[in-house]
Amino acid sequence: AKQIQLKSRPEGLPNANNFAEAEVALAAIKDGEFLVKNLWMSVDPYMRGRMIDRKSYIAPFEIGAVLEGGAIGEVIESNNSEFPVGSKVNSMHGWRSHYVTDGTEITRLPQTPISESHFLGVLGMPGMTAWTGLNRIAELKSGETLFVSAASGAVGSVAVQIGKLMGARVIASVGSDEKAEHIKSLGVDAVINYKTCGDLTAALAQAAPEGIDVYFENVGGEHLTAALNNMKDHGRIAVCGMIAQYNDTVPTPGPANLAQIIMKKLKIEGFIVFEHWAHYPEFAKQMGQWLAEGKVTAEQTVYEGLSNAPEAFIGLFEGKNRGKMIVKLT
Ligand code: NDP
Repeated sequence: AKQIQLKSRPEGLPNANNFAEAEVALAAIKDGEFLVKNLWMSVDPYMRGRMIDRKSYIAPFEIGAVLEGGAIGEVIESNNSEFPVGSKVNSMHGWRSHYVTDGTEITRLPQTPISESHFLGVLGMPGMTAWTGLNRIAELKSGETLFVSAASGAVGSVAVQIGKLMGARVIASVGSDEKAEHIKSLGVDAVINYKTCGDLTAALAQAAPEGIDVYFENVGGEHLTAALNNMKDHGRIAVCGMIAQYNDTVPTPGPANLAQIIMKKLKIEGFIVFEHWAHYPEFAKQMGQWLAEGKVTAEQTVYEGLSNAPEAFIGLFEGKNRGKMIVKLT
């Protein structure tokens, strides 16, 4: 089986030399085990954090070991009656072509008319993140103004669409005019290209003259500063991610306007989606319905071949994706 290993810990933006491709022999399957061929794998910004040797909510990747991440595969040999040949399975055994397992922490996918790859995106972890942040953290209400950063990405593109379905006025920020045009087609009310808009605080004030009730934070840095400047009294910020800081080699100074939290009596709450996983069935039912009714568009950017997985991953930090970035294994 082919696999991608972490060769060295990245300094700043990761590059191809931080990854190594290896061929490993897999043992024959024993009783209760089965062999899976991966069809799709996910690359996600959080993986950058796991490349750093530090204590966090999840253990760091080890040098010389295969990387891990969400993957959808098909059982091609089986000695386990719960996972017969042909079953489609979801696992954390991405970054490799095949693996042998006894089924621990492997879930079988339900039969759905949409592509199984969406279980890595809109119907999987990123979609669940968008839904959790808006419903369970920020408690977005109809009629409110929502601002979403990294709005054309996996989480953001779902957050803006759920925001509209919840009756909010939605403002989005993205990194290109092409993305801005596209995100408007998803029903967003106002879009800012943060790379060309000049002063982000002023651009946001123009897009939300009455202020922002809820900020869905994916980026950090200047985005957080601008959002704080434009929050309404008693606004809420769901802190999902700070991708602008993941490749920093020195710590980014915090926003200089944190006193806005006091003056505006803001509520700021970070969250990790896995702690909310007990609510996945509720989310999946709702999202499945929205997808079936055509109310949510499932966006993805697909790179082909395991060898291109590092490039797809690095592309997340260069804005190469629209919707969920995934790799199709061939
Ligand atoms: P995305 O699909 O949004 O991919 C990353 C996008 O971020 C890029 O396409 C790019 O879009 C934007 N971006 C990259 N670098 C910068 C930068 N320096 N400044 C501004 N924008 C940047 O990734 P996800 O949807 O998977 O993740 C979005 C955020 O949510 C991340 O911060 C991630 O860590 C977080 N997250 C948190 C979870 C949790 O449980 N708390 C779970 C899942 C994700 P553009 O072209 O617009 O710049």
